[in-house]
Amino acid sequence: MGVTLDLSRATARPHVAVKPNLCGLTRTELAAALVEADVVPAAKAKMRAGQLWRWIHHYGVTDFALMTDIAKETRAALAEAFTLARPEIVERQVSKDGARKWLIRTAPGIEIETVYIPDVGRAGALCVSSQVGCTLNCTFCHTGTQALVRNLTAAEIVAQVQVARDDLAEWPSPKADRRLTNIVFMGMGEPLYNLDQVAAAIDIIADNEGIAISRRRITVSTSGVVPELQALGEKTQAMLAISLHATNDALRETLVPLNRKYPLAQLMAGIRAYPGLSNAKRVTFEYVMLKGVNDSPAEAKALVQLLKGIPAKINLIPFNPWPGTPYECSSWSTIEAFAAILNRGGYASPIRTPRGRDILAACGQLKSESEKVRASARRKVAEG
Ligand code: SAH
Ligand code: SF4
Repeated sequence: MGVTLDLSRATARPHVAVKPNLCGLTRTELAAALVEADVVPAAKAKMRAGQLWRWIHHYGVTDFALMTDIAKETRAALAEAFTLARPEIVERQVSKDGARKWLIRTAPGIEIETVYIPDVGRAGALCVSSQVGCTLNCTFCHTGTQALVRNLTAAEIVAQVQVARDDLAEWPSPKADRRLTNIVFMGMGEPLYNLDQVAAAIDIIADNEGIAISRRRITVSTSGVVPELQALGEKTQAMLAISLHATNDALRETLVPLNRKYPLAQLMAGIRAYPGLSNAKRVTFEYVMLKGVNDSPAEAKALVQLLKGIPAKINLIPFNPWPGTPYECSSWSTIEAFAAILNRGGYASPIRTPRGRDILAACGQLKSESEKVRASARRKVAEG
């Protein structure tokens, strides 16, 4: 029987081959990719991957031609098989207080917001997103009004750091005078619903021969996904932040609906068991100040009681309003009175100054225009 090849489909939908990007791979994935593409023999893969790693993550190069300790032919072969390109920056905004926000598009319909906040941590912190949108619907959070589009890959998380470092001129990795010294997973999404990719991204960001941001300067914030806390500590050794916002279950359920699944008693027990917890490695409790909702002196006292015996820091976050929110921020005097009670309870200067409010870059304000791509549209994209 004769076989006829039908090429009409291929012609109608030309498949654009996208070269694999090496910038967001772990060391192991990088070595494997080199071998798989037949660019490097297996025996040399680890050595070559080590060289590339330095160029990509210490020097931040995006062009194989600059890798001067690699033979010209190998560089050409690498460029033929792979890319080091950064994702597209759709928008860049700079606040009058020095905060910066980038809207990064990594794929059709996938737009990620990332914010740089000066004077946080040792010099400045980058607030990265772990998902586009969020499945949880905390009632005071703008991201919570956006459906989950999808989890981000480790590469997409690392790309946020690379884009920020490009813009802040932080390559090659300086040991002193860095402007970006800390990473906080406090952008869009719930990091513990995407733990594997978050952990792989942290491995890349913390690697000493690359970006070299120490795990002690990387904080992962969760709304309280209790079953993943242990794994977070073991896989990442990152600092833990808990979005608490209330001291009793009834109120916390209305603010953070996940509390119905994991109520306070379970959450506090999970936190006490967090690996490596000590006075040198404290948990940060985030508490958003909502006028008339959770800001009374009695609640401040209840907070001190609740945290007894846990090595803790408290961050009072003035509520950042967004269009359409029913909440208001507590008055400054209420926040100060609340802080004074915490102070007497042994917690020092805990108010977080809002930054980047003018560019809607403050905590909980991130919401991209990305919409959940319907299955039919996704199929179209996949088919080219
Ligand atoms: N999903 C994770 C991390 C992202 S949210 C979490 O919930 O912890 C980062 C922090 O911003 C959380 O503490 C969150 O409760 C807080 N937040 C959300 N919306 C806010 C708003 N409008 N104003 C102030 N803080 C907000
Ligand atoms: Fe999601 Fe965190 Fe916003 Fe809650 S506060 S909706 S968990 S991003």
